Amino acid sequence: MNAVWTCGLAVVAVLVGPSAHSQEQNAPADPVRVLVGRLDLETYKATIKGLTQFGDRREGTARNRAAVDWIEAQLRSYGCTNTERIKYVYNSAPQPPQQTAAAARASAIASGEIRRGTGGSRLRGMTLPVVPNNDPDAQTDPALRARNAELPTPGPREEVYCTKVGTTRPDEMYVVGAHMDGRGFGEAADDDGSGTALVMELARVFSSPDVVTGRSIRFALWNNEETGHQGARAYVAQRAPLQGKEDPPGSGRYPEPRWLAMIQHDMMLWDHGMPRPDGTVGAAQRPEADVNIEFQSTAKFADAAMKLAFLFRDASETYATDYPAAVGPHMSNTDSSDFMDLVPAISLRENERGMQIGAGWNPHYHQPTDRYSSYSDRDFRLGLNAAQTSLAGIAQLAGARLK
Ligand SMILES: [Zn+2]
Repeated sequence: MNAVWTCGLAVVAVLVGPSAHSQEQNAPADPVRVLVGRLDLETYKATIKGLTQFGDRREGTARNRAAVDWIEAQLRSYGCTNTERIKYVYNSAPQPPQQTAAAARASAIASGEIRRGTGGSRLRGMTLPVVPNNDPDAQTDPALRARNAELPTPGPREEVYCTKVGTTRPDEMYVVGAHMDGRGFGEAADDDGSGTALVMELARVFSSPDVVTGRSIRFALWNNEETGHQGARAYVAQRAPLQGKEDPPGSGRYPEPRWLAMIQHDMMLWDHGMPRPDGTVGAAQRPEADVNIEFQSTAKFADAAMKLAFLFRDASETYATDYPAAVGPHMSNTDSSDFMDLVPAISLRENERGMQIGAGWNPHYHQPTDRYSSYSDRDFRLGLNAAQTSLAGIAQLAGARLK
C-alpha cells in the first residue's frame, strides 16, 4: 500500500515538475507539438517495411540476429549512438512443427457464452481461437518460406537498446519498449514490427541534435517475447540492481538510471472489430478504432500505472491526429509484465490483449499472413497515432524542449 501511494505521488510530481521548470523563455509555445509533427506515416511504414526483410525474426535464428544488427545500425544512424546489448542464454527446445492453426481455427468458433481471458479479462460475443501457426509450410509465398526456414537453436541471445541522456536528471529514466522477435512464419509486421518501428521512430525524434530532455529515455527492443518474454526478464535481472548508481563515481554518468516507468508497445495496427457470426472479420479498419492503453490492476504499482495510463490518454486527446485512446485494467502477455511490480508499467496496443486480441479479433495474429501487404494505410495510421500518443506522453514526462 505504502509503495503504491508513494509511487503515485512520484508520478504526480513528475507531471508538475520537469516540464514547468525546463522550458526556456524563448522556447516555442509547445515543443511537444513540434516533436509530434516530426512523425509521419510514410517514415513509420518504411521502418516496418525494413523490419519485414528479416521474415518473422524468430528468436534463436540467423534472421533474428540480422534484425538485431539492423535495428542497432538504424538507431545509431538516428543519432542514438550509445547502443548497448543485453546478453543472456535461452536453452528451451522449440516446439516441433505441427498442423496448421487454420484447421484449428475453423473448428472452434464460439458465440454467446462469456469466458475468462488473460489478464483478468472476459471474452464476450463471437470469439475465435488464437492458435499460433507452427507450420513452416503454411506460408504460401515460396521466397518468404525459404527466408523463414531455419528453426531456433538453444543458446546465447542478444537484444539492443540505446538511451537519450537527460541533461538535468541523467540518473532517472523512462523505459520505452517493444519486442523485435516474432513468430508464425510470416513477416511479423504487426506483431511486433509495428511496435518496434514505433520505438525506433521515437528514438529518431528524441535523438535529433536540437532536442533536449531533462530526464533520460531508454529505447529497448526486447528479444524472446514470443517464448515468454525472457529477454525483458534478463534485462530486469541484470540491470535492476544497477539503478541510479553513478559509474565511475563523480563522472555524472549513470549506466542504469533509476527506472521511473516502463511503456511497452505490442501490435499497433489492426482494429477491425469483433468477428462476424460466420467467423470472418471485417476487411477495413473500423470507424471506432482506438489505441488501447492497458495497466494491470493486480500489479504492485497499479495505482500509479493507472495514473500513467490516463496521462497517455490525455496525450492522445491533445496530440493524436486521427484515432482516440482508451484505458483498460488488464495488461498481460507482454514485456511490461516483468516491470509492473517494480515500477508503474503500461502497454499500448491496437486492441485489448485479453478481451479482443485474445478473442481472435486479429486474423493475422501469429499467422503466415502477418505481412506488410496485409495492412492498409488506415491500419498503419492507427500505429502512427499510438506513436504520436507515446511520443507526446514521454516528451512531457521527460521534460523535452528544443534548443
Ligand atoms: Zn507481440
